[in-house]
Amino acid sequence: MIRVLVPRERQPGETRVAATPETVKRLRGRGCAVWLERQAGLRSGYADEAYAEAGAELFQGDGPEAAERWAEADVVLAVQTPGAPGTEAEAGGSGLEALRPEALLLGLLNPHGDHSLIERLERQRLSAVALELLPRISRAQAMDVLSSQANIAGYKAVLLAAAALDRFFPMLMTAAGTVQPARVVVLGAGVAGLQAVATARRLGALVKVSDVRPAAREQVESLGARFIEPPRLEEAPGEVGGYAREAGAVFLEAQRQLLAPHLAEADVVITTAQVPGRPAPLLITREMLGLLRPGAVVVDLAVGQGGNCAGSRSDASVDVDGVTVIGAGNLPASLPQHASALYARNLAALLEALIQEGELRLDPEDPLLDPCLLSHAGVCRREDLRPARAGQEVAA
Ligand code: NAD
Repeated sequence: MIRVLVPRERQPGETRVAATPETVKRLRGRGCAVWLERQAGLRSGYADEAYAEAGAELFQGDGPEAAERWAEADVVLAVQTPGAPGTEAEAGGSGLEALRPEALLLGLLNPHGDHSLIERLERQRLSAVALELLPRISRAQAMDVLSSQANIAGYKAVLLAAAALDRFFPMLMTAAGTVQPARVVVLGAGVAGLQAVATARRLGALVKVSDVRPAAREQVESLGARFIEPPRLEEAPGEVGGYAREAGAVFLEAQRQLLAPHLAEADVVITTAQVPGRPAPLLITREMLGLLRPGAVVVDLAVGQGGNCAGSRSDASVDVDGVTVIGAGNLPASLPQHASALYARNLAALLEALIQEGELRLDPEDPLLDPCLLSHAGVCRREDLRPARAGQEVAA
């Protein structure tokens, strides 16, 4: 029997959980035992009783039982890395340090940002899958946590903007006269950006969108928004595996010039532009913020990667000459019930794909695992994510 452990998340601000009663039942059906730390689902609206009813065995996070469970687990399902820097301390003897060699950790492990991760996995001789690195192949669609969580972030970003804005989103015809719809500009038409477009359109706004991937045009237009053409330059970034490549300085400067008149007309700007593993492109400089009217709102979803908008700060709302700049760090955690429900389903689908004849099988050659299996029984499989190399790349 595969023993699956689900801890309570201990990162500040993290409210999600990696399994729900629904996925516990599903994993039990696949022959897994599920050990869940008490109150792991509390902040996302899932009670201990519901987990127990679904077949989970609950354990106390701070007792001697916790150390025992961690030492015997085969798989840990987590949202973020247990015990990563900045995490609330685990109870003595439990947590990642207590796992037996070859145990498997699945989660959003922040492989580009957590420089101590690979060393810890090696020291403990652990296997680990970083969900950020899952390939975008059709087999992996049901496991794609980046998509399920970005979808939530895009939706919530529009609600935050609407709540902070000094006017309506829809056009309204009232006895006191007509009000014009809000003008929204979305930068980046990935999963979060497209959901932001759809949500803003449902609220009645006029929406324009910028992206560097030509394929984005059709998706944007099918949602009733206008596409802002990227600059026509030879050194356009292009894309690889569905993701944008990093734009060069000349391209970015041309793009900023092109965006300027659209920003001058905007009431709301939602920025979602990202390039995996690289700093987010700066699309709104401090000077460009001055183009926005006082009362306008910018929501920067890329703030965790350095931000698309100058001056945005994680989980803070900053007033820049009357423009509200909201740095939206972990928006999925603000809708934890649905975020957890989707995340847990993604994880259950991935774990099921790794179970064959009742046993956990990790085949590093499998195209599903190859890019995201960071470490296999302590052997690092992504040398490019080692701290020294990562540091050199940033400096280059
Ligand atoms: P992402 O979070 O990495 O980036 C968000 C968006 O920012 C992307 O559309 C990117 O092109 C854009 N961007 C990057 N640099 C920019 C710049 N300088 N200016 C403007 N925009 C810029 O992207 P994502 O949400 O992960 O989605 C990327 C693509 O992958 C989308 O087409 C999405 O539909 C697709 N996708 C495919 C699958 C699958 O096939 N399984 C799953 C999810 C997403």
